[in-house]
Amino acid sequence: MQKTIYTGDIVQQTPVISALSIHDLDDNKIHRFMFQSSQMNIGQYWYVPVFVAKGKKPGKSILLNTGVHGDELNGARVIQKIFESLDTENLLGTIIGVLQASPNSLMHISKNWHLSTDGGDFENMNRMYPGNENGNTASYHAYLLWNKLWKNNVDYVIDLHSQSTDTEYPLFVFADYRNSIAKEMAELIPADQVKNDQGEKGTVETTFIEHGIPAITIELGAARTFQADYINRSIIGIKNIFTYLGFIDNHTITQTAKTQNTVVGDNMYSVKALHGGYAEILVKIGEKITSGQIVAKQLNAFGDVIQEYASEQAGTVVSVNTGALREKGGLLVRILY
Ligand SMILES: [Zn+2]
Repeated sequence: MQKTIYTGDIVQQTPVISALSIHDLDDNKIHRFMFQSSQMNIGQYWYVPVFVAKGKKPGKSILLNTGVHGDELNGARVIQKIFESLDTENLLGTIIGVLQASPNSLMHISKNWHLSTDGGDFENMNRMYPGNENGNTASYHAYLLWNKLWKNNVDYVIDLHSQSTDTEYPLFVFADYRNSIAKEMAELIPADQVKNDQGEKGTVETTFIEHGIPAITIELGAARTFQADYINRSIIGIKNIFTYLGFIDNHTITQTAKTQNTVVGDNMYSVKALHGGYAEILVKIGEKITSGQIVAKQLNAFGDVIQEYASEQAGTVVSVNTGALREKGGLLVRILY
């Protein structure tokens, strides 16, 4: 069985590990580690900050993960606040909090991991899992997180994201309803919208689901910012999940998808820009729209309308573009139905 490996280094007062086993950590304690990952071109390491709260009593283990995309920041505040409020005396099992899962992407405040070799390249870290031991730095980083930090330590997973820079979601959950526990987890969150979704290859959520571990993705609003309402409702939802799965017994489930009248959809339809130019969005997140409704228009540099965009689907607006300049292929409006 994997053991926790301490490299002997201390980074910012925090012990460095290159492998984690929750089984050989002291009970009734919140541990902090820097997980040593792949190396930069200058030979120094990338470090991922990790909390491990081990309860006084044994039980299952759940991973709260964030920072896979480096411009999506709301999730960090959720995990920080949850660990601030955790009481290991009343915790059964283990809660792992991984902050800054892609430190390179966070440093660049970017969706991508920036590689420096051969003049530079980019990798979307939420398509890389379970990673490759013989791959580039980004893929090796994914391999190390999967094999040395996550895989042998977790029974349930919540991965926290937001929409990308210049676009916005409400509090929105992706969950694969073929996994009944993932469905339960999703509906314990007082989110605005849920998409029943079979996932995409290489995402954190889908890779865990493929390995039989219930996992969901929470999308909190917009990139690059802290949004208190989405942060607070996610914390309520995650505490509901802790209660439902038996990690804590001092929290009462009151706000859920049911009380929030969460819209659940099985499909999404995206209206994308056909040109470069200024985008004017005519609908709001959460708005119900009809098929054929004009949802956006695009203007040239002089302000002339060059394109009006109608939705081919009726449904609820789940995402809009917030950056006024868009190029061809850029998202304008996304509809859940
Ligand atoms: Zn993301």
